[in-house]
Parts: sequence; C-alpha cells; structure tokens
Amino acid sequence: MRAAGFLAILLLGRGWASAAVPPAVTGEPGLLTIPVRFHVTQGATMTVKGRTMEVWVTPAQLAGPVIAEVNRIWAPARIRFVVERAEVEPLLRPEGFADLLHRVETAARGEEETRGSGRTAAIAQLLDPAQRHPTAHNVYLLPYLGATYQGYAHLGGKQVVVGVWTDKPSGGKQPPVKALLVEPEPMRVGSLARTIAHELGHNLGLVHPDKAEAAEVGRLMGGGRQGYALTPAEIAAARETARKSAAGK
Ligand SMILES: [Zn+2]
Repeated sequence: MRAAGFLAILLLGRGWASAAVPPAVTGEPGLLTIPVRFHVTQGATMTVKGRTMEVWVTPAQLAGPVIAEVNRIWAPARIRFVVERAEVEPLLRPEGFADLLHRVETAARGEEETRGSGRTAAIAQLLDPAQRHPTAHNVYLLPYLGATYQGYAHLGGKQVVVGVWTDKPSGGKQPPVKALLVEPEPMRVGSLARTIAHELGHNLGLVHPDKAEAAEVGRLMGGGRQGYALTPAEIAAARETARKSAAGK
C-alpha cells in the first residue's frame, strides 16, 4: 500500500516534469515566431444603443485561449505568434476625451472613408506611445470601434486595434454584444481570435481578396466567404514579410 502510494507520487512527479518542458520550438524547420504585445486598455467606457461597454477580456484569456486560436489559424503558414506581454493599461486622457470617444461610438460603417469621421484618428490619440513595443506587433483591445467594425490594421504595420464588443452580427441594428473569444469551426459569426488573426494578416502584408474569390473555401482574409483558410500565395507573402521584419528590414 505504502509502496504503491510512493510509486504514484513518483509517476505524478514525472508527469509534472515532462509537462514543464517547453515545446520543441527550435526543432521545427521553417517555423517563424513573431512577438505580440497585448494592450488591454481601460477607461474608455462607451455607450451605444443603451449598451454600456468596457473591455472585458483579461490578459490571461489573451495569453491563453485567444493566442492558441490565432496560432491554430496561422499554423499552416508555420508562423507562430508569441505573447511578449499582456497587461491592463490605462488610455491617455487628452483634452476632448469624451468627444473622441463619442466620435468612435457614433462612427458608421464606411463613413470614415467617405466623410472622414476621424474614428481611427480619434483612437490614435488615446493610445499611449510609452506602452508600445518598438518591434513587436502591438494589439490594442478597445470596447468598440464603430458600427459593424471589429478591427483594423495597416498593411505592413505593427499595430492592430480590436473591439471586444461588436454589432456586426446584426448589421448594426441591435446593441453591440460581446464578441466570442474563439469559435469552433465552422465559422458562423467570427471571434475575437479570428479578428486578431485577420488583422495580423494585414500587418504581414495580406489584403482582402476580391468578393468573387473564395466562394467555395472560407478565407481568413475574407472574400465571398469568411473562414480560416490561407492560400499558398498568402502564406508565401506573409512569411516573406515576417522574415524581412525579423531581419530588421
Ligand atoms: Zn481586413
């Protein structure tokens, strides 16, 4: 009895020891790792259609299930995002803070492009440059980004901004709802993790395919159908950008 108990402890100890060994990152040929810093912003409470919104996502969720799903999506490209830091951070409070938030709350889809609602310019004034990592991809979580928007990034950039509340599923007709952290396949409404994976795709130089494209297979970068797939051309382009970025070019 005593011996069996001792053996059990030994085996348990062994299980812990092997679980503590990090994955064999170096042994994977062609694997590209990309650092990501998550900024869980606080202090930009927004209200849309009676729904009061703050950032509800935690650093642990981002460093856990969210990054795991982002990496599941990017695995076919042998690209792995590694969390450099995930922390709760206050936003800047410049003069006209409430007005800047109001511009985001009331931004309608496409308005920025046609009338210059200044949505992204307003958000840029809230992000603290002192918290930004100089070379990692900086992913900022905000409550909401404007009607039916879920995230944005700039082609080849190092910044992603994502809203954790969304009214995309209702086309902006209903109050925003919390985005799903992750969504098992098949994709129905999308998730925070997919949005982050999509925006990181823009950072890695990928653009939206033509609407007529990707009608059969749902693609991460959009098109006729939304999904998770990356084409061989997208994989090659993303890896090339990641390689150049790692080399400091
Ligand atoms: Zn996009």
